[in-house]
Amino acid sequence: MDLSLPISQVPRIGPVLQKRLKNLGIATLKDLLYHFPLRYEDFSHFVKIADIKPKTNIAIKGKVLEIKSTLAWTKKVTLTQAIVGDNSGAIRIVWFAKPYITDNLQTGDNVVMAGRVSQGKKGLYFNNPTYEKLAETGSPPNSKVAGLMPVYPETEKLSSRWLRGLIRPLLYNSLSQFQEFLPLTVTKRFNLMPLNRAIWQIHFPDSLVLAAKAKERLAFGELFLIELFVLKERVKLLQTKAEPIAINLPLVQKFVKSLPFKLTDAQRKSAWQILKDMEKPHPMNRLLEGEVGSGKTVVAAIAALNVAKATLNEAKAGLQIAMMAPTEILAKQHFKEVAELLFDFKLTIALLTGKDDKIMAKKLKGEILEASRAKILKKCLNGEIDILIGTHALIQDKVKFANLGLVIVDEQHRFGIEQRARLIQKSKRWGKNQNDNSKFKENTPSIPHLLTMTATPIPRSLALTIYGDLDLSIIDQLPKGRKKIITQVAIPKQRENVYQFIRNQIKAGRQAFVICPRIEAQSAKHKAQNNPWADVKAVEEEKEKLTKEIFPDLKVEMLHGKLKPKEKERIMRDFSARGGSAFGGKNKIDILVATSVVEVGIDIPNASVMLIEGADRFGLAQLHQLRGRVGRSSHQSYCFLFTDSPSIKTKKRLEAIVKAQDGFELSQIDLEIRGPGQFFGTKQWGLPDLAMASLDDFSLVEKTKSLAKEILSQDPNLKNYPLLKEKVEKLQERTHLE
Ligand code: ADP
Ligand code: MG
Repeated sequence: MDLSLPISQVPRIGPVLQKRLKNLGIATLKDLLYHFPLRYEDFSHFVKIADIKPKTNIAIKGKVLEIKSTLAWTKKVTLTQAIVGDNSGAIRIVWFAKPYITDNLQTGDNVVMAGRVSQGKKGLYFNNPTYEKLAETGSPPNSKVAGLMPVYPETEKLSSRWLRGLIRPLLYNSLSQFQEFLPLTVTKRFNLMPLNRAIWQIHFPDSLVLAAKAKERLAFGELFLIELFVLKERVKLLQTKAEPIAINLPLVQKFVKSLPFKLTDAQRKSAWQILKDMEKPHPMNRLLEGEVGSGKTVVAAIAALNVAKATLNEAKAGLQIAMMAPTEILAKQHFKEVAELLFDFKLTIALLTGKDDKIMAKKLKGEILEASRAKILKKCLNGEIDILIGTHALIQDKVKFANLGLVIVDEQHRFGIEQRARLIQKSKRWGKNQNDNSKFKENTPSIPHLLTMTATPIPRSLALTIYGDLDLSIIDQLPKGRKKIITQVAIPKQRENVYQFIRNQIKAGRQAFVICPRIEAQSAKHKAQNNPWADVKAVEEEKEKLTKEIFPDLKVEMLHGKLKPKEKERIMRDFSARGGSAFGGKNKIDILVATSVVEVGIDIPNASVMLIEGADRFGLAQLHQLRGRVGRSSHQSYCFLFTDSPSIKTKKRLEAIVKAQDGFELSQIDLEIRGPGQFFGTKQWGLPDLAMASLDDFSLVEKTKSLAKEILSQDPNLKNYPLLKEKVEKLQERTHLE
C-alpha cells in the first residue's frame, strides 16, 4: 500500500473514523503509521488477583463477572464499572467517560486487563485500564495481546486497542514501503536499527530495550534531516550577497551617550555582534534573545541608526530599515520608542498600520505628522523614509523600498517560519531593484540583513537545532535597579485577600492585569466530555464578575483577540493613559481583564499587579512573559498565580516560577517537565512527537549535527545520497512558501 494514500482510501476506515483520526492530525496512511505509542503495557506477565498490590502497574487475566455503565455524580460523565475475577479472587474496574466500553465487553467475556491499581475506599480497583478480549475460557491470550501492548495518544472514542488492531495489519503490509534513507555507513557506525524494523519495533516491540532502540533510531533520522537542512540553509546564506555596512563608531558612541541610561554589558555585546555581522558582504541572520524588559529595542535602534547613516559610496548615503511587530499595538509602541531614541539623529521614521498612518519627520523636530498610506508608500519607494515600522502589512506587495538594508522582526515567534522565509524572499525582490551602483553583478541580487528579536527564552539545545541557521545573541541581564517581582501561588481561599490587595494598589494609583486562559464560556458539550478546559475562567465571565460583584466602584475593561482592532486600540490607549487632569489624576482604566494577548511586549509601567487565573494552563515561559508585563518601573510589582489544580507536577512548575526570575532557567525547567512541543517554532517543522521529545537530548542533537557537517563537507549537494537529498528538499518545501 502506498504510504501517501489518504486514510479515506484505507480499508476499514469509514467517514466517522476518518474524522476522529483527523483530530489526531492523521490524514494519510503514513501519518497513521507514524502515530507512535506513548508507552507500552506489559501483557506478558499476569498477576493473580489475590496477589495484587496497590499503586502498581500490572496485567491480569480473568472473566468479566459484571459490567454496567451509569452517569457519574455530576450527571455528565459516564462511569463504567466492572468486576473481573480469576480463580484466586475478583477486582473492581472503573472507566470514566468511555461509554462505548459496554458495547465491546459483556458479562462472561474472557479478558486481560493492564494498568494501574489504585486503593479506593471500597478496596483495590483498576483505574481506566487497557483491555483485550480473549477467544475462549482458559485459552492462552492470542498473539494480538501477548507481550508489550502499545498505548497511543488517544482522543475520545479512539482507543489504543482499536488503533492497535488497525495499525498492525496495515503496517505489516507496508513495511517494505519504508525506504531506508540513512546511508549504510551511518547506520553501521551508530549501530542504528534499519528503518522498517524500527517502525515495527516502536509499535510492537519484542522488549522494552528494543522499543527504546527503535525510538532512538527514528529520532536520530529526524534530527539528522533537520541538521542537514539547517546547515544547507546556512551555506546558502553565505552564497548570498548583502550590502556590507561599515561600523560608524563615532556615531554609535554619540548615540550611546545620548541615552538617559547606561547600557548593560549584555546589550553592548549584542549590539557589537550585530554591527560586526553587518560588516560582512553576506546577509546577517541573527536572533536576539532577551528577557522581557532587557532592552532589546535600544539594541535594534543602534543597528538601525548605523544602517540608516551608512556611507556606501559617493552617490548614495544610508540604507532603509523595515521594522516589523506582530500586532498593531506593538508596532505603535515601537514607533514611539524608536522615534524618541533616535530623536537627535534627524531621521524620518514612519508608521504603517491601518488608517492613521504617521510620519515622524526630521525637520519638524519630533512632531508627528499624519500622512496618507499612499504618501508613505511613495516616500518609501523614493527612499525618503529611513525607518518604516509596521505590522506584517509590511510584507505586502505594495510596499517597496528604494534601498532596503536591514529588516528587524520583533517577537518573532508570532511569525511562523513560513513568514520569515517569505520576508526574505520578498526582500530579494526588493533587492533586485536596488543598488544600481552595487559592486555585485546583476544576477546576484543583494538581500537585506535580518535581525529577529524574541523575549521567549529558548533553551540552548533547542535553539541550536531549530534555529541552527541563525546566529544567536543573548541579553541575559536586566538593567540595573529593577525590582524583583514578588510572585505568589494562590489557592481559591486566598481570593478575598488578593482582591483587597489589588484594591489597595489601585488606591495608591497603580493598575492591575487579570489574565484568563480562554475567551468564551465553555459549551455544555465540552463539559459533558469532561474537557479539562471546562471550568476555566472566561474573560467575559470574569469581567462581568469583577465589574458587578468585586470592584463595582473601579473601572474594569477587557481585551481579547476577538475584539475589533479599533476597540483593542482604544482599550490599550485608555489603559496606558493615566494621571490626566480630565480624570482627576486617576486611571482611565484600573483593571484590564485579558487573555494572553498581553503576553508580548506591551509596556504599561504604571501597572503593578498581575493576577493570572488558571495558571496551570500556561507554560512557564508564557507565565514568565505575562509576569514581565509588570515590574517595568520603580514601583514594587506583584504577581499572583491562581490554581485549583492539585497535581504535583503543576505545583512543581508554579514553584519554579515563584523562585526563578530568569527566563532561561525557567525555559530549561519547562523543557524538562513539559517537553519541547510547547516552544515556538517546533510545531512548524511538523515533526513527529518523538523527534520533538528528542530535542532535549543534547548528545543526540550534537551527534546528528556533527554527522551532518561531516557529510556536507564531503558532498555539499548530497549527490551521492539521493534519498537524503529528497528528504531534505521535502523539509524545505514544508518550511518555505513560494
Ligand atoms: P524588551 O527587551 O522587553 O523589548 P524594551 O526594549 O522595551 O525591552 O526596554 C524596556 C525598558 O527598559 C524601556 O523603557 C527602555 O527604555 C528601558 N531600558 C533599556 N535598556 C536600559 C538600560 N540599560 N538601563 C535602563 N533602562 C533601560
Ligand atoms: Mg520589546
